Amino acid sequence: MADRLSLEKLEKLKKQALGAVARAHARKALDELRVRYLGRKSEINTLLRGLAELSLEEKREIGARANEIKQELEAEFAAWESAALKRELEQGDKPDLTLPGTPAHFGRRHPLNIVAGRILKVFEGMGFKYVEGSEIESDENNFTMLNMPEDHPAREMQDTFYLQNVEGRGEDAGKLLLRTHTTPVWIPVMKNAPPPYRVVSCGKVFRRDAIDATHLPFFHQIDAFAVDENCSMADLKSTLEIWARELFGPQTQIRFRPSYFPFTEPSCEVEVRCFLCQGKTCSTCKNGWIEMLGAGMIHPAILERLGHDPKKWRGFAFGLGLERVAMVAWGIPDIRLFYENDLRFLEQFSL
Ligand SMILES: [Zn+2]
Repeated sequence: MADRLSLEKLEKLKKQALGAVARAHARKALDELRVRYLGRKSEINTLLRGLAELSLEEKREIGARANEIKQELEAEFAAWESAALKRELEQGDKPDLTLPGTPAHFGRRHPLNIVAGRILKVFEGMGFKYVEGSEIESDENNFTMLNMPEDHPAREMQDTFYLQNVEGRGEDAGKLLLRTHTTPVWIPVMKNAPPPYRVVSCGKVFRRDAIDATHLPFFHQIDAFAVDENCSMADLKSTLEIWARELFGPQTQIRFRPSYFPFTEPSCEVEVRCFLCQGKTCSTCKNGWIEMLGAGMIHPAILERLGHDPKKWRGFAFGLGLERVAMVAWGIPDIRLFYENDLRFLEQFSL
């Protein structure tokens, strides 16, 4: 019989298997070879089916040799694996300098902090002292002391959130609310020390506004004021001119437009010549000028109420919305982007 099982056939199969193992380059290839040469349906097992046709003596001889060959192959597979493991361990100890590095993730400042930092730096450079106000204010400081008594129409534009039973605040604290502007910071400063003052403050303010692309129930303001013996509108204008040039470039122009605020007299809106189109008119500015902040001379009635003679002391003040400045400066279309914690947005800003 041509297909008769013989030692030669077994030896040939062993040689073929050892050659294949020696040539295997990866674990996957080795696993395939193991199935092929040592698995239940391996070639060697197929061959051994031919044992039945052999004499008892041949069966004994070939059967024994077949078991030896299986063990030899097992040993060969094991040797291949331990060599591979050794190679991997050796490589593992040595860093592969050709691999790309793991990038370090640096945090960065929030765009509003960047804008606040730049603005405050300019005013602090002009001698304004930073004072932190309180986000919870009395109705009196937020409105009444600033010429907005109850039923004053200006209160309607600044509807806010009122608080009840705040721990540690007595009954006499009066009605408490979340401040609608940073301007109440004037009151404790002017109550606790005599003029002159140069103060800047920054923080969250609250309004009962519905959320849309330009409104949120809270936003940030910077408020600054100065009181001195010879303070005038000219000082206000030169202070804001320096501020605008530092922030938007040395050619920046500003202009005042008459306006009304209860706590300043006279009052004005301050516009900055559009730094995007250089005043030629674009979609941001509409007419070459961008409305940036509100300002004016501190109302004499407020100075008087706080015990300072308005004939001797005069002051100027201004306030601006941080989000608005950032939106205009960076062309940000929606105020909500500042608060959604979307890194794709936040990572675009750096110092
Ligand atoms: Zn423009």
